[in-house]
Amino acid sequence: MFIYDFAQGNKDMRDLLGGKGANLAEMTNLGLPVPPGFTITTEACRTYLETGREPAELHDEVTAHLTGVEKARGKTLGDPGDPLLVSVRSGAKFSMPGMMDTVLNIGLTDQSVRGLAEQAGDERFAWDSYRRLLQMFGRTVLGIDGAHFDEALEDVKRDRGAEHDVDLDADALRGLVRTYKSIVSEESGRDFPQDPREQLDAAVRAVFDSWNAPRAETYRRQERIPADLGTAVNVVAMVFGNLGPDSGTGVAFTRDPASGARGIYGDYLANAQGEDVVAGIRNTVPLADLGQHNKEAYAQLLDIMATLEGHYRDLCDIEFTIERGRLWMLQTRVGKRTAAAAFRIAVQLVDEGLVEEDEALARVDGHQLAQLMFPRFDERAQRTPIAKGMNASPGAAVGRAVFDTGTAVDWAQNAHEQVILVRRETTPDDLDGMIAARGILTSRGGKTSHAAVVARGMGKTCVCGAEELDIDLGHGLFTAPGGVEVREGDVISIDGSSGEVFLGEVPVVDSPVVRYFEGELDPDAAAADELVGAVHRLMTVADDRRRMGVRANADMPEDAARARSMGAAGIGLCRTEHMFLGDRRRYVERLILAEGEREREEALEALLPLQRDDFVQILAAMDGLPVTVRLLDPPLHEFLPDLTELSVRVALARERGKEDSGDLRLLQAVRRLHEQNPMLGLRGVRLALVVPGLATMQVRAIAEAAAIRADAGGDPRVEVMIPLVGAVQELELSREDAERTIAEVRQRTGFSAPIPIGTMVELPRAALTAGDIAQVAEFFSFGTNDLTQTTWGFSRDDVEGSFFSAYLEKGVFGASPFESIDVDGVGRLVRIASEEGRASRRDLKLGVCGEHGGDPESVHFFHDVGLDYVSCSAFRVPVARLEAGRAAV
Ligand code: PEP
Ligand code: MG
Repeated sequence: MFIYDFAQGNKDMRDLLGGKGANLAEMTNLGLPVPPGFTITTEACRTYLETGREPAELHDEVTAHLTGVEKARGKTLGDPGDPLLVSVRSGAKFSMPGMMDTVLNIGLTDQSVRGLAEQAGDERFAWDSYRRLLQMFGRTVLGIDGAHFDEALEDVKRDRGAEHDVDLDADALRGLVRTYKSIVSEESGRDFPQDPREQLDAAVRAVFDSWNAPRAETYRRQERIPADLGTAVNVVAMVFGNLGPDSGTGVAFTRDPASGARGIYGDYLANAQGEDVVAGIRNTVPLADLGQHNKEAYAQLLDIMATLEGHYRDLCDIEFTIERGRLWMLQTRVGKRTAAAAFRIAVQLVDEGLVEEDEALARVDGHQLAQLMFPRFDERAQRTPIAKGMNASPGAAVGRAVFDTGTAVDWAQNAHEQVILVRRETTPDDLDGMIAARGILTSRGGKTSHAAVVARGMGKTCVCGAEELDIDLGHGLFTAPGGVEVREGDVISIDGSSGEVFLGEVPVVDSPVVRYFEGELDPDAAAADELVGAVHRLMTVADDRRRMGVRANADMPEDAARARSMGAAGIGLCRTEHMFLGDRRRYVERLILAEGEREREEALEALLPLQRDDFVQILAAMDGLPVTVRLLDPPLHEFLPDLTELSVRVALARERGKEDSGDLRLLQAVRRLHEQNPMLGLRGVRLALVVPGLATMQVRAIAEAAAIRADAGGDPRVEVMIPLVGAVQELELSREDAERTIAEVRQRTGFSAPIPIGTMVELPRAALTAGDIAQVAEFFSFGTNDLTQTTWGFSRDDVEGSFFSAYLEKGVFGASPFESIDVDGVGRLVRIASEEGRASRRDLKLGVCGEHGGDPESVHFFHDVGLDYVSCSAFRVPVARLEAGRAAV
């Protein structure tokens, strides 16, 4: 069965019927006024895409279901006297606004256009509908460049002195139909089909094909929508919003999708068809205006919206048409929204008793929270506002104005410029430019225009419908009121939360959500801000539900304090390498150049108090919470001068006859330590084992710092972590050394609290021999950065600028494995090591401290594997808390 009647489906059948079809079915079954129709399944589309032909049964199934629609409407498709017309609309499982094709008014022919005119009592309407069919069919089905049709339309408007399409009369439109038909014949080499069924079948095929249109592919990649789902096709009896002033079409939301504010929100366009609204070609009026023209339909619409919200228990967006005063529902779905709206609405719905707290938590995510933590414009800064449009998608974007997609991509990618894409309106062809831009500014279209919907989906700042701007695409400039001229390359700032456009760069400040997390916002101010209040509520739920702890990666006292205020329950990774930088390099140099025991010991002695002091401060900032200190990891040459630079310096000095023996010695050392593959070289535990005294000094500094904190009345909970272990023998040797040192400090200071010793699991061999390693480790912390590097054999320092973009494009992976854990490969090693480690030591503590610890998707994986905690940078701590909570509900 490849076709479902609307009465046969429901909202949970999105896989098969696509989002639009499933929801049309749901509305039909709720008894809402949906025009009759049916959905051709995604399965039919997949068969078509795989084999190049429709399934054999499809033709007969279409006939049967079409007959049903004809009966329901009492008309026959394309009947010359009184034609049934249908629309053919794409509808994939995931919404892809404007990315695929739609053909309206199928069934109109040279004959039936007259029947339609007669039945509607409106010649103009009939010819307008026919020219729209020719235009859409020509572009979508026959692949004719839309510009041909646009130009012909503009020509007629100019000839007739008409400002808008609606100003063209029947006669003008009849003439336009003739022109369009000749465009079709000339450009496609065949006449426009006069057989209605042939039109229908060709349109269905075109919708199938549009799944693989380049812009749809780009959108799917961006939104991580799988490429093999296919689209469903909805065939729906036409209802007309362009039958005169008592007809119209609109888009509405049950709450404001930009801010999350309560209240109906939408755009309406009288005497128009749906595509006119979404394309943003004419400016719409607020939905409330409809109430003045047609009280009854407006009241019914509000009623239906309340029903839908109650039924879906979420923000819904809808498309509707009013045909001669009668309301028809064309679409609904749970609506896209901004991050701020997501948080506010989730909490509103809890308060309204529509959803439970757990579900509210599931409806927001860490990506959204991260967005709310972005900076915004400083309101106290000197600003030069030049225009105001609609606040379509929030954020503060600063960049150089560019007027076309090509330039946006070129400047952003090749010149690494931040750009704002400025267009009259956007179309799906602008997608690449929108992705490349920091923000989008348009002069036409409402909050439901293409620019607004797509920008919101991408979390990108957008101001739309800034009508005061006169955009001259040809000359690459726009003029704002007062004669302000902005040319390509000039810097502008756009505020997607207020809709304001500013000349030049406006400075940005921290978001209130960050100030809340940092405890800077006083409780009253926090409670007064609905967004901050909503974040607070959902964070409280998340903290209550989560099983995993969240720690921070921090190696400076200030970072530790910040992480703690962000809710970190300790430090999961304190890297010690920065403690060897700056002024301290000279001690490291001395250590490396040391000739003999004494010199080396002196260098270590000099480093000891500096390290100890660092640890004392970090332990103070995290008093009472665990602090995992990792012994030095990077190869020693990283602390020495660059080989090439030093060679040049020595060579120059030699030429001038001023050879420096210190430099010469240093050069020899750099050469000695030079490695082709330092990431696979003398680093981590290998250093501890072959550079005498280095690890001992570090462990001593750690234990002494703990003793100092304890003496001062603190509660130090330090843990020693040994990096890059691949064999249990390595850990045994370094552990023995550490234990000896700790025992010696204990004896000297009387410090008695435990200092657990554990290891990083960041090499495949460590993961595969985890059972043995756990015998000598009290904890494992997965170093998924190195584990990803060594499992894939990808250099973590080189790949991003090298072949990764090609890999992402070719679909080798959907996201960089350095950002989001590769569950099948690296994740499998994490799972094996966790299971075998715990089997060998029951109370083995497990955490992760690679970048993945702050990545929303990865956090869910770590929860599933059963880790005790994740550790990530301070700024990601709230994200990880939220996701750990979501993973647990
Ligand atoms: C890791 O490898 O995942 C890790 C946390 O250590 P580093 O990034 O310092 O190598
Ligand atoms: Mg590492």
